[in-house]
Amino acid sequence: MNRLLDRLAEGVLVADGAMGTMLQSAGLGPGGCGEAWNVERPQVILEIHEAYREAGADLITTNTFGGNPQRLAFHGRADDVQELSRAGAVLARSAAGEDGLVLGDLGPSGEVLAPLGTLEADDWSRGCRLQSEALLSGGADAIIVETQYAVTEMTLAVEAAHAAGATVVLASFAFGKTPSGPRTMMGTTPREAAEAMVRVGADVIGMNCGTGLDREDHERVLEAYRSVTALPLLVQPNAGDPASMGGEQVHPFAPDDLAAWFDSLVGKGAAIVGGCCGATPEHIRAFAQQRRG
Ligand SMILES: [Zn+2]
Repeated sequence: MNRLLDRLAEGVLVADGAMGTMLQSAGLGPGGCGEAWNVERPQVILEIHEAYREAGADLITTNTFGGNPQRLAFHGRADDVQELSRAGAVLARSAAGEDGLVLGDLGPSGEVLAPLGTLEADDWSRGCRLQSEALLSGGADAIIVETQYAVTEMTLAVEAAHAAGATVVLASFAFGKTPSGPRTMMGTTPREAAEAMVRVGADVIGMNCGTGLDREDHERVLEAYRSVTALPLLVQPNAGDPASMGGEQVHPFAPDDLAAWFDSLVGKGAAIVGGCCGATPEHIRAFAQQRRG
C-alpha cells in the first residue's frame, strides 16, 4: 500500500493552497519562470511549503506545475526538466517532514495535441515521464496531474506517471461556467472527465482551479463524479475569481468563507480538499482548524 492511500482510508486530508499566486506575492514577475526558483531561490519555495505545512496541510504540492518541457521552453529551459522537478520534490519533501505527504505536480502543456494543435503525443508523454521520474526520485509520494482540460492529454500524462513508477496517481480537471453547466475549455463535461480518469487508472479523481464556478457548481461536479465512480474525490477551488483592485489581482474569498465552502464539499464526499489560485496558508489554516473542531 502507498502511504497516501493508507492516510485516505483514515479520513479527509487537507491539501495546500496556491503556489503561483504566492510566488507573485514574493516578487515573481509576470511571465517569470517560477520553477527556476526551485534552484535559484530555494529558500523562498521552502518557506511557502513550510507555511502550508504549519497551517495544517497534510499534502504538500511541488512547485513544478509548469515544469514540463513545453512550458519550460518559453523560458529557454526545456533541458532543465529533471533538475527543476527533482529540486522541487526535495524542497517539498523537506517541508513535509515525516508525517506529511508530497504530491509531485504535473500541470497542463498549455498547448493542444495534434492534429487539432501542434503538440505531438510522443513529445508530451516523454516530458511527463521525465518529470515524473525526477519528482519520484526527489521524494514525491504520488503524482498529481492537475488543471487538465483535455481527455487525451490527461490520459497520456497519467500513463507516463505510471510508466515512471508512480504507485499512486491523482488526476484533476479545471472547469469553467457555461450555460449548460461546468465544462473544460475543450468542452469536456464532468462526467466525461470522470470516465476518462477512471479508465486510465487514476487512484483519486478531482477538480481544481475552476473559473466562474460557485459552490453549487463544485457540488454538481462532485455529484457527476460520484455517479461514475466510488474513487476518492479531490477538490481544490480558487479563492474566488480574481478581481482587479488598485492594479493588483485580488481573490475575494476570506479564509473563513473559503473554509466554510471546503467543509460543505467534504459533506458532498470530497476526500482531499485544498485551495488553488489565490488560496494562502491563512485559508488552509482556517479549514484545518475547522476540521479539528
Ligand atoms: Zn488555480
